[in-house]
Amino acid sequence: MVVAPHPDDAEFGIAGTVAKITSSGKEVVYVIVTGGEKGTDDPAANPDDIKAIRRAEQLAAASVLGVSEVQFLDFADGGLEDSYHCRLAITREIRRFRPRVVASTDPYRRYMWHRDHRITGQVVADAVYPFARNWPAFPELIKENLAPHTVSRMLFWGCEEPNHFEDITPVFDTKLKALRCHRSQIGMHGDNNLEAWLHQRAADMARGQDYELAEAFRCIDVNW
Ligand SMILES: [Zn+2]
Repeated sequence: MVVAPHPDDAEFGIAGTVAKITSSGKEVVYVIVTGGEKGTDDPAANPDDIKAIRRAEQLAAASVLGVSEVQFLDFADGGLEDSYHCRLAITREIRRFRPRVVASTDPYRRYMWHRDHRITGQVVADAVYPFARNWPAFPELIKENLAPHTVSRMLFWGCEEPNHFEDITPVFDTKLKALRCHRSQIGMHGDNNLEAWLHQRAADMARGQDYELAEAFRCIDVNW
């Protein structure tokens, strides 16, 4: 289960790994926390229109990657808080999908990070433990027949100190194709620039490995 703050974050962070997992026959689901409706420099843009476009683009990207379901939580872009409501919403998705692995943005990246990324990562970590595991954490979820669930592993992208690398060399083109679905967000940089930038970034993450391109994560095995 991939929890992304905005449409396109999952593709930048983990699309190659997602493509590998789905092509091996395992299931991946997406949870998109906000609508991404504030991510624009255009003063004439209507946030509702942007949200609808980004939702369609996210569904197209997920389809390229073989993601089986995309759940939009519809929190306000830029207005996300580490609130009861947000913790409940993300815990609900963990108990509903019952994933073995949960991936999100690293909340501990320093100095420059969108606050929605920081808060999403923090809430995901809290939802995995203790909220998804503890029976009485949310009485609402028991009433919804959503039993506790233990996640085995957390993966955080955008991290400063990666300890887990995925070889995405064979699926780089699929990651690029999925990212290109987000036309309203990446169009301004030009397609060739995107490919060159993405390739360089993946090559940097693979430095020291015996393959060319990687996605890098902070991996936490939840074994306590
Ligand atoms: Zn984002």
